[in-house]
Amino acid sequence: MTLFRATVIDTPGDPFAGDPADALAADGDGGVLVQDGIIAARGPFGSLRAANPHEPVTELIGGLLLPGFVDTHVHFPQIRAIGGLGMPLLDWLERCALPEESRLADPAYAEVVAGEFLDGLLSCGTTTALVFGSHFAPAMDVLFADAQLRGLNVTAGLVLSDRILREDLLCTPERALAESRDLIERWHGKDRLRYAVTPRFSLSASEEILAVCMELVQDAPGGRDDIWFTSHLNENLAEVAAVADLFPGSDHYLDTYHRHGLVTARSVFAHNVHASDKELAMMGEAGAWAAHCPTSNSALGSGLFPMRRHIEHGVGVALGSDVGAGTGLFLPKEGLQAYFMQQLLGSDGLALTPVHLLYLATRAGALALGLSDRVGDFSPGKEFDAVWLRPTAGSTYAVNLDHAADTTDALARTFALATPADVTGVWLRGERVAREPAATVV
Ligand SMILES: [Zn+2]
Repeated sequence: MTLFRATVIDTPGDPFAGDPADALAADGDGGVLVQDGIIAARGPFGSLRAANPHEPVTELIGGLLLPGFVDTHVHFPQIRAIGGLGMPLLDWLERCALPEESRLADPAYAEVVAGEFLDGLLSCGTTTALVFGSHFAPAMDVLFADAQLRGLNVTAGLVLSDRILREDLLCTPERALAESRDLIERWHGKDRLRYAVTPRFSLSASEEILAVCMELVQDAPGGRDDIWFTSHLNENLAEVAAVADLFPGSDHYLDTYHRHGLVTARSVFAHNVHASDKELAMMGEAGAWAAHCPTSNSALGSGLFPMRRHIEHGVGVALGSDVGAGTGLFLPKEGLQAYFMQQLLGSDGLALTPVHLLYLATRAGALALGLSDRVGDFSPGKEFDAVWLRPTAGSTYAVNLDHAADTTDALARTFALATPADVTGVWLRGERVAREPAATVV
């Protein structure tokens, strides 16, 4: 067993359900006792030490120990395509994202990109992710194999499209079915890996491809509860209008998925910036989740996410970095940008507290992915996935942490000021994977 000593903060509760302060668990001098990667106890360090006087202690002095971040929307083939500013969605896809995605046809290229992508996630403290995959099955093999080796919690799938995109990114419904089944067979449920059926979006997926998606979800090993579904939804007004033209029989964008049984509690839809009340009601009823990607929405000028309306309709919201349209993999930056955008919405916005931001970056994502019994907070029985943010001495972040009134205030200053350079340690199931070793005393 190991007893970690740190300023420990997590959100075992739901800050959207009542007083946000009630959702927070925080110990200025806290302890987390970990046995074989599982949290055995959590509480004030003094009492845990008294109860476990002989266990080794790992001192994490300074900064905050938080649950590993959960990114619910991030594109692995776009790790080299960040920073293409000044374009709306469809132009950005055409000029920045898709040419790079085509290069993953070469498995050797995909292998290097997968390494860069997974290195990036870990170096930003992200330990669980719903990863939007590649259009090429061999590239997915490479991603799954590397994620398995590292012990990352990854849910991902082959991206399916059969129209509109560049020719080399398209597949037939027959190939989509065969290749997806093969990947599910080989990777779904292996260690921490799971499969997500992933049409790119209805714009590039015909009724035939969406029918294949339904078949894949329904025929999943273990039944429907066993496999995930993700796609894009209502990101940009031109995209929404184009989808309406392509599906004249559908009531709205979400209906293009709903007609194929793809709106369930295991569905995560990225963006949903331009959601109608009808769609939100349908998502709320189904228990489907929205992955809010604020830096992407800002960079592409997609719009201001209606978080208040989502919550009012009972739709769960988690955060996604949406790299490469998003401007990096560091989830606290997405939290801060989400906060900014709700402020800019004025009375239509939802005033977010630091507790909301931590919840959105951790437990909300675990709930969206059906992993909240395993990760997302530090409750006993869960796997110890954690990130230690510790500022460099003398930095503005350090100065502000020193002057924080309490742990909630420290959290606010962290969302305002922390950067990936402050990620000092990352743990996956109790194993340290990144950066310098902590001081260990017996
Ligand atoms: Zn995306």
